[in-house]
Amino acid sequence: MSNTKAKLLIVEDEQAILHGLIDVFVFHGYEVDAAEDGKIGLEKALTLTYDLILLDVMLPFIDGFSICNQIREKDLQQPIIMLTAKSSEQDIITGLSLGADDYISKPFSVRELVLRVECVLKRTQKNSPQNAILSIGSLRIDTANLQTIETVNPQKFTRREIEILAYLQQQHHRPVPREELLEKVWGYRRAENIETRTVDIHIAKLRRKIETDPKQPQLLLTIRGEGYRLMTDASA
Ligand code: CA
Repeated sequence: MSNTKAKLLIVEDEQAILHGLIDVFVFHGYEVDAAEDGKIGLEKALTLTYDLILLDVMLPFIDGFSICNQIREKDLQQPIIMLTAKSSEQDIITGLSLGADDYISKPFSVRELVLRVECVLKRTQKNSPQNAILSIGSLRIDTANLQTIETVNPQKFTRREIEILAYLQQQHHRPVPREELLEKVWGYRRAENIETRTVDIHIAKLRRKIETDPKQPQLLLTIRGEGYRLMTDASA
C-alpha cells in the first residue's frame, strides 16, 4: 500500500493522447499534471516536484530533447521517460543520451507504458544512493552526488548510470546479460519480453564517460553472447 500518490507530469501536445494518458494514470491511482506545450512543460518540470515525467519529443515552442537536457542540467535524479516516434532510432538515441531513463515508441500500448512507469518508480524508490564511492579504473565516483570526486570538472552521471555501474560492480567481473540489467536496474520483469535499446545506449553513454577510448573499452566490456562485464581495473 502506498500512502501517497505518485505524481506524474505528462508533456504532450496531442490532445487525444494527452487525455487518454491522464485518464489511464488517474485510473491507476496517480496524481497527474499536464502540459500541452514545451514552454509550460519546461517551466513545470523545473519549478514543481514530480515523481516521474513523461515527455513527448515534438512539442510546440520547446522540444522534448531540450526539456530533458535542461532538466538534467539541474537534476540528475528526476525520472524521465521519453515518448518517441516509432522507427525513429535517432530520437531514441538522442533522448537516452540526454539522460532520459527510458523511452517508449508511439504508438505504444498503454499497458506497457503503465508497466514501465511503475517499474521506474519502484526502482527509484528502492535504489536511493548508497552513500558509497565506486572505484572504476582511475575514477572514483561519489554515488550520492552522482559525480566523480574531482574539484575541477567532475564527470557527472545520472542516477540510472550509477545504478548500472553499481550493479555490474557487485557481480565481480561476471558478464551480465542485457535482460538481467533490464530486470535489476530498470525493474522490468523478464516475462514481459520488452524490446528496448535502452541498455545498449546507456552502456555506450557510460563508455564515453569512463573509458579513455570509448571505441576500445578497457573497463566496460561486451562479452559476445554473454553480456556486459565491468572491470574495476583496466589492467585486471
Ligand atoms: Ca507531439
